[in-house]
Amino acid sequence: MLAKIDAAATRAGRAPSDVRLLPVSKTVPQERLRLAVAAGCRELGENKVQEAKRKSEEMADLDLSWAVIGHLQTNKAKDVAAFANEFQALDSVRLAEALDRRLQMVGRGLDVYVQVNTSAEPQKSGLAPAEVPAFLEALPAFSALRVRGFMTLAEFSSDEARVRRCFRVLRDVRDRAVQDWPEVGELSMGMSGDYEIAIEEGATCVRVGQAIFGSRATPDSAYWPAG
Ligand SMILES: *Cc1c(COP(=O)(O)O)cnc(C)c1O
Repeated sequence: MLAKIDAAATRAGRAPSDVRLLPVSKTVPQERLRLAVAAGCRELGENKVQEAKRKSEEMADLDLSWAVIGHLQTNKAKDVAAFANEFQALDSVRLAEALDRRLQMVGRGLDVYVQVNTSAEPQKSGLAPAEVPAFLEALPAFSALRVRGFMTLAEFSSDEARVRRCFRVLRDVRDRAVQDWPEVGELSMGMSGDYEIAIEEGATCVRVGQAIFGSRATPDSAYWPAG
């Protein structure tokens, strides 16, 4: 896995150290996660806030950083504010406001990524690329949020060109945005099936679950609407 990340980065003329591997631990029980932590894992990504919160409590004795990477309802902002270090699916001003209010109450900050719908599939979460500039304009009002960059889920397709196109759309969104907001340079894109393509297209964070922890019994439709 690390060798493949290195090779993909090198193919793209990038430094392997510019790519962060975020292990995604949904459905993986804490007993196995503790082994990963013993082997050096320091951060975990979870799609659902309830599961993330429960695990963060179960493993509170460990020095772990938690990333919530799935769509969040405004009424769950309080939970994310309580324990998460990072939230990668910011897609509305209402949610930004709810997160900021809860974070201010507990005196915490949160790294956030703006989720972009790069495949234009109607069932996918995220802003349309054209909506991003106005959204970024609104975010400085929420001082507990540190906007780091952008996140996307590519189209699930065996056609590599279609997958690659999604990653290029996100990179293009980022390249435009950094002209006005130099701090939003991160690109979270790529999962078990497509992380090498994502790295070739500039990913600075790949979110990888099954390629690390083995395949999941829970279908993907439990996490995002099927195409
Ligand atoms: C589960 C998940 C991943 C990782 O998917 P794998 O197929 O396990 O690599 C990446 N991003 C999000 C948003 C996820 O929910």
